[in-house]
Amino acid sequence: SSATELTSEEVVRITRETNYGTWRFQKGWNPLHIVDSEGCYIIDANGKRYLDFSAQLMCMNLGHKNQAVIDSIAKQAQDLAYALPGYTTTARAELSKLLLEVLPKGLNKFFFTTSGTDANEAAFKIARMYTGKTKIIARYRSYHGSTAGSIAATGDPRRWSMEPRGKGPGIIFGPEVHCYKCPIKHTYPECGIACADYLEHMIRNESDVAAVLVEPIVGTNGVIVPPPEYMPKLRRICDETGVLLIADEVMSGWGRSGEWFAMNLWDVTPDILCTAKGITSAYVPLGLCATSEKIGDFFQDHYFAHGHTYEAHPMTLLPAVATIQEMRRLGLVERTRKLGPFVEEKLNTLKSKHPSIGDVRGKGLFWAVDLVKNQKTKEPFNTYADKVSSKALVVDQIAAKTLADGVIMQAWVSHFVIAPPLIITEEEIERGIDTLDKHLHIADEQCVT
Ligand code: PLP
Repeated sequence: SSATELTSEEVVRITRETNYGTWRFQKGWNPLHIVDSEGCYIIDANGKRYLDFSAQLMCMNLGHKNQAVIDSIAKQAQDLAYALPGYTTTARAELSKLLLEVLPKGLNKFFFTTSGTDANEAAFKIARMYTGKTKIIARYRSYHGSTAGSIAATGDPRRWSMEPRGKGPGIIFGPEVHCYKCPIKHTYPECGIACADYLEHMIRNESDVAAVLVEPIVGTNGVIVPPPEYMPKLRRICDETGVLLIADEVMSGWGRSGEWFAMNLWDVTPDILCTAKGITSAYVPLGLCATSEKIGDFFQDHYFAHGHTYEAHPMTLLPAVATIQEMRRLGLVERTRKLGPFVEEKLNTLKSKHPSIGDVRGKGLFWAVDLVKNQKTKEPFNTYADKVSSKALVVDQIAAKTLADGVIMQAWVSHFVIAPPLIITEEEIERGIDTLDKHLHIADEQCVT
């Protein structure tokens, strides 16, 4: 029998009974049954429309139902659904040519995966094979994916659940750049970005360091844009110490910051750039690990010991070609850059009205609204410990209210991440922020002065 005979109640019940709901307790999982979508909206089985203020998982940059991307999927399925990765396909060459145009200059050798985490896994192996060294220095406020290597390199507490079974081999953590809540209690700019100096100190005092791994704009952990001199300084440190710089642009790439890639904000080219999400606007699962020429050259005479069955899967590559073409046709990078100051102004107004907002920060269409109990101490309402003890988080209470009002707000521990499809209009941005405005009293009332 066909799935269309199932009632919506049955769809939800079967899903709950037979599937894992991820990053949560299974008890109480009541997934929305989504049946349709359009532009910046998704529609549930009751016909209710939701403004998608986070592009789902900060990935549907073109929004829903882009016809050119849909057509590319149908065409590829008709022509050639799969070919083993040792062969090549026309889409593979077309996408590679486009990547040479849009990636930061100097990244010209590609390995295609099916998600962000496996793009990072490839980067770790490539960095280790290339340098002959082991250690990767990551930063505490970071998320790099959920598979073994990437979760070990994840600085945020999602890593902790793995550690009773041992630490990830060769991963060490340095300080994040986070001027609002500096981990070493410095003040920018007087600090001279001491957090970068400390990373240098680590590199010079550890043996066997292969790479430094950064999210150029930290995503889930609070949309943290570093001061302008941070990334050029890190590039210089890596060059001087012979350590590779890996940029995880899984979330910050593809126009989100108002540049094709966040690294373009500082005109810095990493040795390896990993990305996924917006590369196909999430219509199909694709990840990319792009390396510099010197790394590519190394493997001319060294065995490239890596690969997947679904590597360079044809069904994922033509949609990426269509995505890049659509982004260009619609001028979305430029448009996002221009919308940045508009969002900033709206969020600053929001902040001035609510004692619970400690900070708003971001770039382009990538913003955080950071909630605090107390403006002076900057103490958050909740921590990760609350999340894994099934406590009702303040951000989740607010997100539930905005959802009831038809606006999807992405909440993480004690902040919201605002990252809508890049096709969003100013009116829709206003509606999203106004809806948050309406429910922030829930946090304001719990502020302690
Ligand atoms: N890196 C960053 C910066 C991310 O934000 C994410 C996912 O949110 C990942 C890696 C992992 O990507 P995926 O979920 O596609 O494996």
